[in-house]
Amino acid sequence: MTATIIDGKKISSELLDKLREEVRALTEAGAKPGLAVVLVGEDPASQVYVRNKEKACVDLGIYSEVHRLAADTPQDELIGLIRLLNASADVHGILVQKPLPAHIDEKAVIGAIAVEKDVDGFHPISVGNLLIGDDGFLPCTPAGVIEMLRATNLSVDGKRVAVIGRSNIVGKPMAALLIRENATVTVCHSRTANLPEVTREADVIVAAIGKPKFVTADFVKPGAVVIDVGVNRLEDGKLAGDVDFDAVKEVASAITPVPGGVGRMTIAMLMKNTVEAARKAAAVSAR
Ligand code: NAP
Repeated sequence: MTATIIDGKKISSELLDKLREEVRALTEAGAKPGLAVVLVGEDPASQVYVRNKEKACVDLGIYSEVHRLAADTPQDELIGLIRLLNASADVHGILVQKPLPAHIDEKAVIGAIAVEKDVDGFHPISVGNLLIGDDGFLPCTPAGVIEMLRATNLSVDGKRVAVIGRSNIVGKPMAALLIRENATVTVCHSRTANLPEVTREADVIVAAIGKPKFVTADFVKPGAVVIDVGVNRLEDGKLAGDVDFDAVKEVASAITPVPGGVGRMTIAMLMKNTVEAARKAAAVSAR
């Protein structure tokens, strides 16, 4: 069996086309969506991510502001900027690119973002809303995975899903979203005993580990769906996911590639959250 390739490029561009229309309508109504991205320091990968976010905004007609701050920017100054952005009528979404330099307390910075502008979904109130099932912004990468599964008509309702990774930005919110979708979820991590035995029980595997080609064919039950969140730079400069794509595609029924998979969805979901934030702000000011 060779797996169906889940095409993140195609699914994300369909989503972006819909958003482009919504941005046009909001702009015509005087409520042009706006996203502010804050980058502290010169991490090369972060610079690429920020440029891609800026490009996506321009492509959709979203107003974009990028604040590039020196690596030694004091925390108070960064939080001062966030307060200004919280108060700006042009900005509906605020994203602080991670990782932040070591002298900055990430929690204090994320906590300073107004919840209604938290388009990354990392504010503790957004995380709480996700867990209790209330409305709020969903973290972009896990939300992108759910959107991909939906667009491919792959329901997880009643299925067994193994998430490998328990980070706050991917693994944990991924598990919470899958529970919302009525999956039976097992969260695996570096202390999980007999990992391949556990993942072989799953109908769907979501890999978010940060280790290239870690998930080999013997982790996968024949016919399972495999979603690869990993983005790892190899020595030859190429990108690789957390899944050994060539081997696993011979066992799985469907699989996401890297690049061209989940990464594309992450940016599309950020744009979706920004448009949503602008729509909500316009509804509030119309009251
Ligand atoms: P992270 O914070 O480093 O978390 C990695 C997780 O993997 C941890 O929970 C860790 O377990 C687990 N893990 C590490 N080694 C393991 C092992 N040998 N067996 C089982 N579990 C193991 O990473 P992250 O931020 O979640 O990111 C994960 C990957 O996704 C990275 O490649 C990252 O670049 C990628 N990513 C992609 C996107 C995108 O848009 N496509 C967005 C975000 C992240 P412990 O908790 O026990 O340490």
